[in-house]
Amino acid sequence: MDSQSNSPHVLIFPFPVQGHVSCMLKLAELLCLSGVNVTFLNSDIIHRRLLRYTDVISRFSRYSGFRFETISDGLPPDHPRSGNRVVDIFDSIKMVTKPMFREMLLPGGCLNCGSRPPISSVIADGIMCFTIDVAKVEMGIPVFLFRTVSASCFWAFYCIPNLIESGDLPIKEDDEMDRLVKGVTGMEKYLRLRDLPSFCRASDLSDQAFQVVTSETQETHRANGLILNTFEDLEESALIQIRKHIPNLYAIGPLHAHLKSRLEARMASPLRSSNSLWEEDRTCMTWLDEKAQKSVIYVSFGSMTMLSREDLIELWYGLVNSKKNFLWVVRPNSVAGDGQNIPAELLEGTIKRGYMVRWAPQEEVLAHPAIGGFLTHSGWNSTLESIVASVPMICWPYYADQQVNSRLVGEVWKLGFDMKDICDRMILETIIKNLMDVKRGELSRPVDRMMKLARRSIAKDGTSYSNLNRLIEDIKTSKTSEFLF
Ligand code: UDP
Repeated sequence: MDSQSNSPHVLIFPFPVQGHVSCMLKLAELLCLSGVNVTFLNSDIIHRRLLRYTDVISRFSRYSGFRFETISDGLPPDHPRSGNRVVDIFDSIKMVTKPMFREMLLPGGCLNCGSRPPISSVIADGIMCFTIDVAKVEMGIPVFLFRTVSASCFWAFYCIPNLIESGDLPIKEDDEMDRLVKGVTGMEKYLRLRDLPSFCRASDLSDQAFQVVTSETQETHRANGLILNTFEDLEESALIQIRKHIPNLYAIGPLHAHLKSRLEARMASPLRSSNSLWEEDRTCMTWLDEKAQKSVIYVSFGSMTMLSREDLIELWYGLVNSKKNFLWVVRPNSVAGDGQNIPAELLEGTIKRGYMVRWAPQEEVLAHPAIGGFLTHSGWNSTLESIVASVPMICWPYYADQQVNSRLVGEVWKLGFDMKDICDRMILETIIKNLMDVKRGELSRPVDRMMKLARRSIAKDGTSYSNLNRLIEDIKTSKTSEFLF
């Protein structure tokens, strides 16, 4: 695992939010395992939190070819960087971070100096296409884009110009949300307006988030290749469509399981790994140890979701009234408004059967035998983690790709139920009972099948395994063109 001066040197540059950083760190470690030198470029704020809450430094110290560098995301320290405010990061990155990135990447800049070989390729977050202008166009360094959303969501984003042309967008009336959409090839039978990425709900198409994801997606073909955290058996149809436009596509997921499996092949007992930006509360693992098999519903809405007080109370009643055990992650500052004056019956129900933490070791929680279901916001990492752990889902999507993912889980893969756009205590209570009891048998077959397919894809010679090897080969052989200045 030594740095080799003749080995390639990849710069990995994620968009600075939890889900993106976490899975790109996993890719970084996979590359390190193959002897590739890696520089991982974090925003200052993300890096400080990783240092505070994780063991990334000691974990990556095993790889002498690895190092971290940091860059500003251009926002003040007290900016929330979550919920709808996440779009502010796009602007500040383009304004502030892009010119810094250029300086750092130039020969003699801190990314390209010292005894390490020069950067030979960049793996950048697919929603930061300015990296193509800087690295590929200006400096001749190949750029591979990594999109952290599902292939199906990427494909829906890619088809947005068709949806505008066909008149599907902008959505005109609320009551047409259940109409099927024709413009996303391959998904005509199940994708409704309601299931399009949330940004498509903007009544005005000049909406900033809508514009950013649409234009960034259209630029993908300018990169040397596209990396997706998915596997062929899960999203074959979307991958076929994308390949017609972007032939050099690497489906290498589920990355968390892929990394675990390659580490296990090398080490007797790989270290537990966490890339959490909050302190993991491990007391929930002891709480789970005391619970019967498949008796607990795990509730988490990821790192960005903001809950209104009304939603919090409805969800809470649904959980308590279902009379099931529940482990609920309520992130600090994730409930808008007043979190006080909670009805006594909810507090009593929680003392009896519930446990709440501010942040959990999610992969471990999902793998615990006591977990029988996952009430999730359908973030792509969470969805993949649930699939690998063979845990059926109740999907309550918040935004972005989650609307698409939840439709696939409920309607296509049959791995759970989609509760999108509904927050009602009685409906949730019924769905929990269905998930945990009434329809458990019905769900177990597709859930078990998809888990096996996921594991097969990352086993030796599985599709994701082979695709990752191809990516590594391409990185090793990709050549930096002459600098253009
Ligand atoms: N996560 C975690 N502990 C928690 C909640 C979430 O470790 O208490 C992790 C989870 O395992 C996943 C990531 O945070 O890897 C969330 O990513 P996802 O794509 O699901 O959602 P996002 O946060 O991007 O909306």
